[in-house]
Amino acid sequence: MYYDDDGGEFRENLRAHLEEHIEPIVDEADREPLTREEFLEYTGVLRELDIGFEPGVAEEYFGNLERFTIVSEEVSRVWPSLNVALQMSFPSVFVQHAADVTQDAMLDKLHDGECIGCLAVTEPEGGSDTARPNTVAYKDGDEYVLEGKKQWVGNAPIADVALVVAHDDEADTQDMFLVDQANSPFETETMDKLGWKGVNNGKMYFDDVRIPEDNRLSNIVGNALMDGADMQEIVPFPESVSQLFFEQKALNATFSFMRTGMSFMAVGIMQAAFEEALEYAEERETFGDPIGSTQLVQEKLYEILRDLETSRHLSRHALELLKRGDDRARLISSLAKAYTAERSVDATYNALQIHGGEGLKTENRLERYYRDASVMTIPDGTTEIQKLIVGKELTGMSAY
Ligand SMILES: Cc1cc2nc3c(=O)[nH]c(=O)nc-3n(C[C@H](O)[C@H](O)[C@H](O)COP(=O)(O)OP(=O)(O)OC[C@H]3O[C@@H](n4cnc5c(N)ncnc54)[C@H](O)[C@@H]3O)c2cc1C
Repeated sequence: MYYDDDGGEFRENLRAHLEEHIEPIVDEADREPLTREEFLEYTGVLRELDIGFEPGVAEEYFGNLERFTIVSEEVSRVWPSLNVALQMSFPSVFVQHAADVTQDAMLDKLHDGECIGCLAVTEPEGGSDTARPNTVAYKDGDEYVLEGKKQWVGNAPIADVALVVAHDDEADTQDMFLVDQANSPFETETMDKLGWKGVNNGKMYFDDVRIPEDNRLSNIVGNALMDGADMQEIVPFPESVSQLFFEQKALNATFSFMRTGMSFMAVGIMQAAFEEALEYAEERETFGDPIGSTQLVQEKLYEILRDLETSRHLSRHALELLKRGDDRARLISSLAKAYTAERSVDATYNALQIHGGEGLKTENRLERYYRDASVMTIPDGTTEIQKLIVGKELTGMSAY
């Protein structure tokens, strides 16, 4: 009950598909970071509903804001790690317009839905400061040489391609570089963490890693445009988000999109916790009555539903602004990401508390909901950084 029924048939089909194929395996599958084979198996389940990054499918999933947010919410209601693993694979789309050697090595995989991607921004020296990467790309003939370290990168240890943020030494500016494991091998190391256990986050080491100059992102985009591709074919973002590329910085528009997805992810986690808390409150009896008949448990249910519904409405507001290409999208998506992440920590804590000792058992899901919610406040910019973005958007003055 209390399902969000908007989204019609697509949401209904997705929910049924997840209940059938993912719900029965999630408790075991989420205990360890996904191997490559597991990633392909579980994202394969989503591909059956045209959710993925193969050409022709990416536009339907990533290019459709309504669908993208429904997927984020519904997949996260069942398995947040799967939502993140899938989403963070998006750089694989750039293979289509990359250097010939990368296309030769990766294009078939991309078409088969087997090219795993990752986005490498964060560095050990302080992830919040994304403006000044220490990773350097310097030119050597017709190649770039990458030197540096990244960490926390989702999918890195199982990725075929990585989109790596680095300082372009020659142009003296920040750019991104597509690195494929087949032609330009890089070392990785899996990192363990509190929640999102299924996501294979990792450290990455770039030590004299050589890539063709055509794999610099600005070259990938420029070459594709010269070949007659339009922007939507190169980056399958929704048109309204691509529009914001020109009004705001491309990276800011990208983050507005990703943070809106994160907000819906928090809603999905809260929805799952709410359903289990309500069911348990009705079933569990103490002192001869269901615990749901007590005022303090009803207060907790009230608080969970309040957090869930306010988060859902704020997320939808962010979605509406993005759809319109409204320049307030950046402010509201940051506000929504920070707010929903914090609410999901509160809501899953309340749901866990309603379950008493049962909530702490690792064989139940409550402790996973709480761990997964706790992670929400860090990636894609911490809650503190979201506050500073809102402050900057409001005042025009940067406090960071
Ligand atoms: C599970 C997970 C998945 C991730 N996935 C990816 C990924 O796929 N790709 C990727 O590139 N990165 C990824 N990240 C990295 C993530 O984006 C960073 O962890 C995050 O941006 C924070 O950086 P940091 O951990 O270095 O913290 P720091 O930047 O060291 O911050 C530490 C603390 O100081 C606060 N702080 C920092 N600067 C300021 C300031 N100016 N004012 C106020 N407070 C400040 C922060 O809010 C935080 O509380 C992931 C991280 C996690 C945990």
